[in-house]
Amino acid sequence: MARPPRPRAPATRLAHVGRAVPRVANAPVAPPLYQSTAGRFASLEQLEAILAGDEPGYFYYRYGTPNHALLERTVADLEGAAAAVAAASGMAALSATLLALLQTGDHVLADRHIYGGTYALVTSELPRLGITTTFIDPAAPDALAAAQPRTRLLLLETLTNPTLRVTDLPRLAAAAHERGLLVCVDNTFTTPWLIQPLAHGADLVWHSTSKYLGGQSQVLGGIVAGPEEIVARIRETATHLGVAGGAFDAWLAAQGLATLALRVERACANALAVARHLEQHPAVARVHYPGLESHPQHALARQLYPHGYGGMLSFELAGGEAAARAFLAGLRLIEFVPSLADVTTTVTYPLATSHRGLPPEALAAMGVGPGLVRLSIGIEAVEDVLADLDGALAGV
Ligand code: PLP
Repeated sequence: MARPPRPRAPATRLAHVGRAVPRVANAPVAPPLYQSTAGRFASLEQLEAILAGDEPGYFYYRYGTPNHALLERTVADLEGAAAAVAAASGMAALSATLLALLQTGDHVLADRHIYGGTYALVTSELPRLGITTTFIDPAAPDALAAAQPRTRLLLLETLTNPTLRVTDLPRLAAAAHERGLLVCVDNTFTTPWLIQPLAHGADLVWHSTSKYLGGQSQVLGGIVAGPEEIVARIRETATHLGVAGGAFDAWLAAQGLATLALRVERACANALAVARHLEQHPAVARVHYPGLESHPQHALARQLYPHGYGGMLSFELAGGEAAARAFLAGLRLIEFVPSLADVTTTVTYPLATSHRGLPPEALAAMGVGPGLVRLSIGIEAVEDVLADLDGALAGV
């Protein structure tokens, strides 16, 4: 027999304020935000059924939330992957991936042009666990010659940061698979709207959702997608490490995806116009943009990027560091932001931001010098972006 309700004291009523989940007959148009730490269970039987996967439900939210799940399903679908796991940042997603897949004594090959944060992670953290990394030149004929018997993983980026080299994914993935390596590709710069690395032979693809997937510099997050069984291992490690992140950022990232195609297409068109314009400017020694005919890998870029070459470009000022300082100080519309992929055009100076503190030989190998400036092109009217660039270049 059900126990009759008894009146509750004010302190009890207060403590339970906000616990009532509204019962509505229809769903809201935007997905609800599951801003909570855990699910509650009507009974031990319900908990067991949910943990066994017999009923839909969520346990403790460090294991993920419905907002994570929505983001994961959407990105897996966009990437042509069986599954994905969302995390608190791109680096959290990569950290969980590396710790899930590598053991002491293992060895990693990484593109020597790789993002500074990835470089720092594999050179500062992994060696303490007895995991070493060799940096390779992906353009070399035998790019994977440094592979060893315990090499497990090849880390690549679709377009490298900040010098926009085009990674020949089909060639490198085939060479890696001949040696039994897993290929893990950072698709942050290009998004699945422009390229799906898994379709070109990669095993895993990861993102900083803080960039194009979120799209307006309001999200911090990351995600890794790939085969069901590998993603399940990464998910377990991510849960142990506690790097899932909160529901709100996953919710925001999933909302951002709705406009991904429009944002990326506009950024591609604007970036090509900016690259062509800068290439003609006397203060600019060199423009790095794969959509330019002058880019040394333009033919490969056309093959791999039929829908556009992305919104990222960098260029070298003939006047070196002094010119870079004057250029940054002269901008009025374009803001100096150490991130990328916003709807507004932003600029950064890799030597002081993403590649800060890297050893000179690593910087030289990556082509990051004192005159190098990186632009993340937004979706503004391009004439305003060109006018701001011209204004700042006039002062260098
Ligand atoms: N990959 C690339 C190409 C990036 O530019 C960044 C961050 O700037 C990351 C990965 C790391 O992402 P997060 O900052 O979300 O950890």
